[in-house]
Amino acid sequence: MGMSDVIMEKNYINGQWQAGDGETIAVINPSTEKPIGHFHETSADDVDRAVTAACDAFPAWSALPGAERANYMRKMTAAIRANMDDLVVMQMANCGKPRSEAEADIVGSVDCIDYFADRAEELDARQQTPIDYDIPGYRSATRLEPMGPVGFILPWNFPMKICSWKLGPALAAGCTVVIKPSEVTPFTDTFWGKAAELAGLPAGVLNVVNGRGAITGAALSSHPGLRKISFTGSTSTGKAIMQAAAEDVKNIGLELGGKSPILVFEDADLDLAARLAVEGVFYNSGQCCNATGRLLAHESIKEDLTTKIEELYKAVVLGTPDTPGMTMGPLASKPQYDKVTGYQDIAREEGLNCLTGGGRAVQFNTGYFVEPTLYTDVPKSSRLWNEEIFGPVLCLRSFSSENEAIAEGNDTEYGLAATIVTEDESRAERVAAQLDAGHIYTNVSVAIPPETSWGGFKQSGIGRELGPWGLSGFLEVKTVTSRG
Ligand code: NDP
Repeated sequence: MGMSDVIMEKNYINGQWQAGDGETIAVINPSTEKPIGHFHETSADDVDRAVTAACDAFPAWSALPGAERANYMRKMTAAIRANMDDLVVMQMANCGKPRSEAEADIVGSVDCIDYFADRAEELDARQQTPIDYDIPGYRSATRLEPMGPVGFILPWNFPMKICSWKLGPALAAGCTVVIKPSEVTPFTDTFWGKAAELAGLPAGVLNVVNGRGAITGAALSSHPGLRKISFTGSTSTGKAIMQAAAEDVKNIGLELGGKSPILVFEDADLDLAARLAVEGVFYNSGQCCNATGRLLAHESIKEDLTTKIEELYKAVVLGTPDTPGMTMGPLASKPQYDKVTGYQDIAREEGLNCLTGGGRAVQFNTGYFVEPTLYTDVPKSSRLWNEEIFGPVLCLRSFSSENEAIAEGNDTEYGLAATIVTEDESRAERVAAQLDAGHIYTNVSVAIPPETSWGGFKQSGIGRELGPWGLSGFLEVKTVTSRG
């Protein structure tokens, strides 16, 4: 079976499974704090072999008709579907996610690759597109060409799913790839290598190298053989990757952090608003780039909304993913647990008004569990109001006018997502137009279909994933101007 120890320990380079040549790294189950496997880190030499394989495979892969690349991609999704149960179980064990969330990750990955397989077929028809202008004796047409071999550096919060957002458009465009999963959650992302093998993808088109960011990730982001690095993770690592890419003017795609607001107006349906606020910061235990950790409530409904939110907090069932009825798991790693509990400590030092939670979940002897936490009347100057926490921590402030709500919503270095809750459609449109964020939700839960766009304003990143914009991110535009 696909998730066997053999695959778990190895890299996939040029169509071969082989162990990395570096240190042995244990992979931890965050519910038990026990190892569930290990892998051997990939050195810069092995990263170089993977990039060379991707470079060698590029001419033939990019020359295939889009329809043939689409066939391979659909065989890959068939391989994932055939191993769905094992992948879901691994996602639960390695990330601590509830089954429903683990399933959503893997199903979402398959849907995304299938969506981009359709786009690969359409690409053939988009070649030789004439450009309309009026200079006598001239005519021009564009060609769309794949960028070349590309590298992905992946996070641990949505393994497989975030990779699919990069892999789908890259393979569809005709790029070859080298994938570096997060060291925290390497196994389901390494399965992309197995899916490539089962689909009969030509050797070198898809390679997987495992290792830590500072060793394997740094070797990948500075490798001159790649034409693009697509990265999802923290803003600070994004800056390091941008600097490494500057050396040989690589393209970059950066999907970085966020501190997304949810704005609840005085005319909102408060049951809906409470549900959206809680879902927005509890999904995946709050470890989402788009977590709506900044709740802005109109002063007239603040008390009622807070009461409803507290009720929903009481319904949360913390537990390991195999606990019946659990709704929230542990944080994914010890460093993330230390970070979130560190913010709870800072909140105490800052004297924040904590309505519920505020500490470690002491009922668990093992596992990285924290209490779902709610702070109200958080001052603007608070670190918890301004910094990305990446845990189940909601901070609330009130506002007195629409303009104030918009100004506070935008008062952050980030701009990934925002949620608006109002029954007034014209207000929803007006506010959406003024918020600086890449994806705005009005009166709905966060959903990210592959047809939409994903990516941020300001320090939330550069470029857009998904939809036609995601595909463009792996294509070069070439104009051919001739006599005519
Ligand atoms: P990082 O941004 O450090 O890690 C993300 C990826 O980058 C991992 O694959 C990591 O490797 C790799 N990496 C780290 N350093 C380098 C480097 N110098 N060169 C190339 N690659 C590198 O995130 P963390 O895991 O440390 O999480 C810290 C915080 O980042 C979170 O608390 C959260 O705020 C934010 N974050 C945001 C995400 C998002 O969806 N936008 C996703 C994950 C985190 P490795 O893990 O193997 O070291």
